[in-house]
Amino acid sequence: MAGLALMVGSAWPADAAERKIRVTATVSMVADLVKQVGGDRVEVVGLMGAGVDPHLYKATASDVTKLQQADLIFYNGLVLEGKMQDILTKLARTKKFVYPVAEAIPEKQLLEPPQFEGHYDPHVWFDVELWELCSRTVVKGLSEFSPKDKAGFEQRGKEASAKLRALHEWSLKKSAELPKERRIVVTSHDAYNYFGRAYGFQVVALQGVSTVTEAGLADMAKLVDYIKKNKVKAIFVETSVSPATLQRISKDAGVKIGGELFSDAMGTPGQMENGYDLGTYEGMIKHNLTTIVEALK
Ligand SMILES: [Zn+2]
Repeated sequence: MAGLALMVGSAWPADAAERKIRVTATVSMVADLVKQVGGDRVEVVGLMGAGVDPHLYKATASDVTKLQQADLIFYNGLVLEGKMQDILTKLARTKKFVYPVAEAIPEKQLLEPPQFEGHYDPHVWFDVELWELCSRTVVKGLSEFSPKDKAGFEQRGKEASAKLRALHEWSLKKSAELPKERRIVVTSHDAYNYFGRAYGFQVVALQGVSTVTEAGLADMAKLVDYIKKNKVKAIFVETSVSPATLQRISKDAGVKIGGELFSDAMGTPGQMENGYDLGTYEGMIKHNLTTIVEALK
């Protein structure tokens, strides 16, 4: 009887109602999106921090625990998290609230470049309008988990959408500072196809969609020729990919490194540059475009 009394008297039900919703996200862009929509109601754990390459990232034992203990899991999808796909698929069989945010994008808006060998390009966050669509997956998922908070999530979702639309407009304006023929972005890996389509840039990368395969000498020579032929003013390294090969190309082609772009991971929260917080999605987008435009002007 004592045990029973203890159970009745426990504060658990109240705690359960009050405690924050636990979300585990894979890449930092997704974690940022969940924070925008979830606000104070959610507690978000991101598995991949600054400089981490999601194509190669393998879940650690502690990641698996964080995934298992979460109320909801959000990830990018489209096989961005290549080595984690099995775990995510397995978890989705036993857990109800597992969402790839990119599922909100209609297939006809996805890119499927030939070099991607039948896969869609997963780097959808670089078209801010597509990322705005992804915010709707977050609103849907959080509302399914906690229907009583639905109105709040929808309201915050609307605010997040408005912010993203403003960021898209900003990006269009910023890109327009460069004449069309100067809009060529040469990088390490093929992360900027959506960016190129949305903001009118030609993108050329040394490695394919994933960083798994390394570039060969022939690819490097071809890229050097391309840079010379098109009189490209600068090329760009990425924070989550080793800069060694691009540095070599910069030397061989006699072209400067125009700066460091964020591709598949944001910066460290609070890391400021030109007034942008590189640890936020908005800061990352603004940093990238400013770096590109200033270097190619
Ligand atoms: Zn990538």
